[in-house]
Amino acid sequence: MNKRYLLIFLTVCLLFSCLSGCRMLKKEKIDLVVSSEDIYVKKVDNLAEDFIMGMDASCVISLENSGVKYYDYQGKEADVYKVLAQSGINYIRVRIWNDPFDENGNGYGGGNCDLSNAIEIGKRASKYGLKLIVNFHYSDFWADPGKQQTPKAWENMNIEDKSQALYLYTKDCLIRLRQAGIDVGMVQLGNETNGAMTGESIWKNIIYHLMSSGAKAVREIFPEALIAVHFTNPENSSSYQDYAKKLDYYDLDYDVFASSYYPFWHGSLDNLAAILSEIATKYNKQVMVMETSYPYTAEDSDFSGNTITESSYVTKNYPYSLQGQVNAIVDIIDTIANKTVNGIGICYWEGTWISVGQQSYQQNSFLWEKYGSGWASSYAADYDPDDAGRYYGGCAVDNQALFDSSGKPLESLKVFQLVRTGNEIALAADTIEDLHLSFDLNSAIILPDKVNAIMNDNSRREIDVIWQYEQIKLLDTSKPGKYTICGVADDLTAFCHISIVKKNYLLNPSFEEDRHKTAVPSGWQIDHNGRADQLYVEEKVSDSLSGTKHFHFWSKAPDSIEFSLQQTVTPLRKGCYDFSISIMGGDGGNTNIYAYVKIDGEVKYRESLTITVYNSWQTANIINIEYDGVSTIEVGIYVKCSGAGSGAWGKIDDASLTISEQGD
Ligand code: CA
Repeated sequence: MNKRYLLIFLTVCLLFSCLSGCRMLKKEKIDLVVSSEDIYVKKVDNLAEDFIMGMDASCVISLENSGVKYYDYQGKEADVYKVLAQSGINYIRVRIWNDPFDENGNGYGGGNCDLSNAIEIGKRASKYGLKLIVNFHYSDFWADPGKQQTPKAWENMNIEDKSQALYLYTKDCLIRLRQAGIDVGMVQLGNETNGAMTGESIWKNIIYHLMSSGAKAVREIFPEALIAVHFTNPENSSSYQDYAKKLDYYDLDYDVFASSYYPFWHGSLDNLAAILSEIATKYNKQVMVMETSYPYTAEDSDFSGNTITESSYVTKNYPYSLQGQVNAIVDIIDTIANKTVNGIGICYWEGTWISVGQQSYQQNSFLWEKYGSGWASSYAADYDPDDAGRYYGGCAVDNQALFDSSGKPLESLKVFQLVRTGNEIALAADTIEDLHLSFDLNSAIILPDKVNAIMNDNSRREIDVIWQYEQIKLLDTSKPGKYTICGVADDLTAFCHISIVKKNYLLNPSFEEDRHKTAVPSGWQIDHNGRADQLYVEEKVSDSLSGTKHFHFWSKAPDSIEFSLQQTVTPLRKGCYDFSISIMGGDGGNTNIYAYVKIDGEVKYRESLTITVYNSWQTANIINIEYDGVSTIEVGIYVKCSGAGSGAWGKIDDASLTISEQGD
């Protein structure tokens, strides 16, 4: 071979080896989990072998640097990516930020997810046969509907230069992933790009210039990979159709229209299936859930508050338990596999993000700062002053992980494999709903002999309970007070929260007698102008002052909340009475809210109230109401709000009319 031919031969070899992966990584055999004694898993039919069971596991390296260890189901220390593969995960998603470091090299946090982090994760994933979903945020830190900042290096570039920079950057990253022998199955152009990306907010710039440049680079380096776009808030009607239309109009070359779907925020699964199916059919695209998660506990484990807690203002269709987490995941898989046109899979978000320590906030904070293992470090303040700069800290999703705080896999992680075969253990109660009861002073305390159980298949049924009568005997019913009684139902602990109260002369005082969305609660009258968007009894424990229901109001338009909620009390003997009622809410704008007592149609007593923020209940106490035993007496609350932000909203609960001290 002469020199010239040798040169050509070597060039061809180099090109070939680059395109096919310079080093083919050796794959290890995986033993899949086959059963669980603890979790019920409904089999989902029609699951293709290549149905994507993804796991975003971007923070792992920073967590390991912070001292976190992961274990397998036998309790032995193990590579977390191997444990994921054993559990049925077949794709690992990893986010890439261009430059998540300040000028002194300190990481912004959230895993300090730069390209080298992705390469390290990709290599480990590939070893266990897991493909990679490369998630370019095209920012130096978190990109979501709230922020889509330009990388520092691309600031002040015009759109043409920025597009070229994005093309070269994408290409460089992908070449390096390819050279490392990583099996890239999908590349995502931007993250939750609801109307903005890389500092741009004009669709032509986002799609025609930026996304298209990214797509071109993907096709050149990983022609076999799928190209995905990713949006969120599927519950907002028609927004997804608009995004899909824009992508089509600017002729983006992509394969997968992906959505985030967090069950507690993002509307119903039927809605998700409907809007994704419409896009899949109309534009001939594949669709998937790119991010999802669900809590297995309401408890925090890293001294840094979580996004979802017991008092969060969210939809809770499943209990916060291992089984609740499993059922949430199964329903999403079933929806994408069987109810959605061209559904190719789901990806769980950061199921490996756990606490870096059990000792103290200070100790964890030191690790978050040093290794970037919290959601943001203080060093992110320069780049993201309004959010990370103010609220930096630890992990807000450790209660939604699929590993416990010591790194052991939860039984719920097995769902990704067991959903293919089913794991139908005996039907049993998973959680018991708390009871809330109220008794008049000096009355006999008799508790129901059944409680509501949420079963492991997510069905509801009443089951027998045995209360601790020793606890009930100790109750002092001679004066107002609150107590909690424990019981046992199907081996689970049941709780009954008891309030001992003065006799309340109001009917249905806590709105517990009505069904969800009853417009006029029984016993009450409503007087309103008909313009409020929502005005009804709502069933939601977390938003109720007591019990499970309250009276709810909301209106998006300004100046549209005005109503009174009142009750005519009859019969009532002559005496002296106290009236109270509670309210919480927000975004009220200018408000005029007061509790009142009318005697013979005339307001004789009133007390003003305000609404401030979520869960800040205000109570009006009108005392010593003199009543002659003959006149008409009406008690109620008047609410008028001009609205601010996304509109005034509020909750009213726990009205009472009791005999006052003077009247005893
Ligand atoms: Ca936390």
